[in-house]
Amino acid sequence: MSQKSNNELRLDPISGDWVVVATGRAKRFPGVRPRGAGACPFCVYFTSKEKNLGQIVVIPNKFPAFSPVGRGQTPTLGGLFQKMPANGFHEVVITKSHTRSIADFSLDETIELLSVYQSRYLALAKEKVINYIFIFHNHGPLAGASISHPHSQIIATSLVDGGFLQPLKAAEKFFSQNKKCLYCSINQAELKSQERIVAENDSFVALCPFASKMAFEIMIAPKKHSSHFEKITEEERSDLADILRSTLAKIKKGLNNPDYNFYIRTAPCDSQEHDSFHWHLTILPKTQTWAGFELGAGMEIITTAPEQAAQYLRKVKI
Ligand SMILES: [Zn+2]
Ligand SMILES: [Zn+2]
Repeated sequence: MSQKSNNELRLDPISGDWVVVATGRAKRFPGVRPRGAGACPFCVYFTSKEKNLGQIVVIPNKFPAFSPVGRGQTPTLGGLFQKMPANGFHEVVITKSHTRSIADFSLDETIELLSVYQSRYLALAKEKVINYIFIFHNHGPLAGASISHPHSQIIATSLVDGGFLQPLKAAEKFFSQNKKCLYCSINQAELKSQERIVAENDSFVALCPFASKMAFEIMIAPKKHSSHFEKITEEERSDLADILRSTLAKIKKGLNNPDYNFYIRTAPCDSQEHDSFHWHLTILPKTQTWAGFELGAGMEIITTAPEQAAQYLRKVKI
């Protein structure tokens, strides 16, 4: 790919966070959003004879936030206003049906989707400039999905940041102080009390975190300590597919099909040791909107306690 990008990463001198300035993305779908399968830019991959590529298609994002850096784009580092090109890859993973989301998938369909996540991760991780790969899924307009056809996205970047450094450092600190993994410790305590457990199988547990940032937030984590999502075995992939689709089905049925995001947080692929991290998948249903206090004070107010949320979802029959 030699696509030229003008997207920039800018460092906020106050928070220390990087932001992506991707003005091209504003051109996405001007005016009325496409409605129905007839107008869908993703359905064409499965309906036209030339493009029909099977059940799942992976394409470069037409309006990428990150793309391979073109010539003449050099970092401007130092000073108050630091910036650099948003170097990386941005891909879209499209599943065939326009209307069926992961909550409606069979086990085999979900396994196939996770296999694509894993194989794209492994392929992108081989790129020299890539240090971090983020896999996420937006369901519904409130969750930021600009096209209603179910799809996931993969962003691969040279930069390890985006809210990830804090949990990475917290896991390292806990490990160095306690000689054990923070997430393994949480899993053990939660499985013992059962209070916030939504579901479990041989390899994974789904729970509502003790201090959830959103009502009905769910973390799915491997029971066995593992820092790298991309290393999951065939058996673990099947167990992950099982717990992911059943948890999303419970959310769909029990919470009246809310919009949601989910994302995978896994150790960076930057050739550093990250053994103290424990990879996991977080689901954030949009059951409430962040208001001034949440945005300004950075402290979320949730109206359903995680224990109540877990108890409710446990009982939803799918
Ligand atoms: Zn479609
Ligand atoms: Zn662990």
